[in-house]
Amino acid sequence: EIPILSIRNLSISYQAKRGWVQAVRNVNLDVRMGEALALIGESGSGKTTLGLEIVRLLPSNARVPQGEILYQKIKKNSGGLGPTVDVMNLGTQALRQFRWKECAMVFQAALNAFNPVLRVSDQFADTARAHGYKQGRELEERAKELFHLVRLEPERVWKAYPHELSGGMRQRVLIALGLLLEPQLLILDEPTTALDILTQRNIMDVLKDLRTQLNFSMIFISHDLSLAAELADRVATMYAGRVVEVSDVYTTFKHPHHPYTIGLIKAVPTLTTHKDNISSIPGSPPDLINMPAGCKFHPRCPLADDRCRHEEPNLEPTTNPDHLVACWKWKTARLDMTA
Ligand code: ATP
Repeated sequence: EIPILSIRNLSISYQAKRGWVQAVRNVNLDVRMGEALALIGESGSGKTTLGLEIVRLLPSNARVPQGEILYQKIKKNSGGLGPTVDVMNLGTQALRQFRWKECAMVFQAALNAFNPVLRVSDQFADTARAHGYKQGRELEERAKELFHLVRLEPERVWKAYPHELSGGMRQRVLIALGLLLEPQLLILDEPTTALDILTQRNIMDVLKDLRTQLNFSMIFISHDLSLAAELADRVATMYAGRVVEVSDVYTTFKHPHHPYTIGLIKAVPTLTTHKDNISSIPGSPPDLINMPAGCKFHPRCPLADDRCRHEEPNLEPTTNPDHLVACWKWKTARLDMTA
């Protein structure tokens, strides 16, 4: 399967008063054409940071000491392979072309991203203008088509001011805006977090619909495993800046091998598990400025031994070449953890 995005050996740090926050460490990850890849992990594991670098929007105190992000362009008319884009070395002009047209991100704090004095139509016109996209009647038609797809009332929303829309409606407007220039990759950072449960449900249904109707790949960032399970084809688990496990969604939930993924899954409440059987992972994530030696999960891991305390494992294939895990104990982890 062709990856449309290949992230190689990527590390990202933030300069803070106490030192360098190692937010992303040596990440290798592919996004395949047409798939929804969920990035899961506790708050602070580096998910947003990784997403931000893909669209090159890291804040100024961030440094990227190593790594490569390669993007495979697809010709929009023929579907054939275009040139490969070296995302981290794009100039200003090329970057403008890349963002929105190839890859768009819907941010976590996006609900407040609207300018309160602009109508939705003006926000669309601004984005379109900045990227040399069609204006006027054509833009309006395209926007309304997208509103229809995200289950908004096209006429009303096009003319609305942000304050006239609910949180869920604004989130759907932003998803529509993200899709305006027909990007091949849409990054959604916790798209439902600020919303109530019904609205959340609604956004999830919209996203599923969009995927069947339009042809794009998606990175779905979430700390909510049940949402990831619903939408994703594959799941990548992050811990302390690293991807510690990647597999198809079924394997992640049925046969996880990393003790951290296992812990996350055991902590998901379901309708059938009794409340007493839900266990959250004891302890907390490491200080990213001053990390422990060895596997960064070892202080919280019930299986950790001497090797785990001294050597950090790399992400390696298991018996299934599509299931990668960074754990010295993966062969026994599942058995030991659920025993
Ligand atoms: P969340 O879901 O809470 O956003 P996350 O998994 O997306 O979590 P990131 O937001 O990528 O994690 O943060 C990774 C680490 O980098 C955290 O320790 C965070 O405090 C730190 N960090 C993020 N942004 C900055 C910044 N601008 N300056 C300094 N440190 C930062």
